[in-house]
Amino acid sequence: MEAVASEVKACRRCGLWKTRKNAVPGEGNAEAKIMFVGEAPGYWEDVKGKPFVGAAGKFLDVLLAEAGLFRSQVFIVNVLKCRPPGNREPAQSEIEACTPFLDRQMVALQPKVIVTLGNYSTAYIFAKAGIAFMGITEARGKFYQAKVLGLATTVFPTLHPAAGLYSAKYKQLLIEDFRLLKAKILELRLASSV
Ligand code: URA
Repeated sequence: MEAVASEVKACRRCGLWKTRKNAVPGEGNAEAKIMFVGEAPGYWEDVKGKPFVGAAGKFLDVLLAEAGLFRSQVFIVNVLKCRPPGNREPAQSEIEACTPFLDRQMVALQPKVIVTLGNYSTAYIFAKAGIAFMGITEARGKFYQAKVLGLATTVFPTLHPAAGLYSAKYKQLLIEDFRLLKAKILELRLASSV
């Protein structure tokens, strides 16, 4: 995990290194059984070099509490490790260049549950798992038994936390999903082991 982080910080595999202030490898408990996968760093993540430290991150903390979790019990990463300028959507070429890092992080952590936040991370993990992806609103809120990179795991897609900041409806769906996640964590006895 540490080797990946130092490679990410020096990475020039796509053009995003030219505009980044800091790469954001991800962070968390290296023994965690639960991995959260977001989309890409935003303004504050780029400034601080840490994932989910802006407005969406504050809401993610609320959602984690809803699931009975602290950040110290999970590992949080993004599909892209560098901020797309102006927070534009990730380009396919950037995803292809960057996701070998995400793959290595998943192999290193061996998470029992992978929570995908939003369209991009769900599309990526579903493709790895061979699950058809019909969009996040269709996929969200269900548990998928899957094999990702040879690892037997449970994939749980939900909306991106940023969606809950502009829509009361999405906020409610996110809260409901994180309550489902709490029940699954208790069922699998995951939080006690981290
Ligand atoms: N949005 C993301 O997808 N990831 C972050 O780290 C911050 C905002």
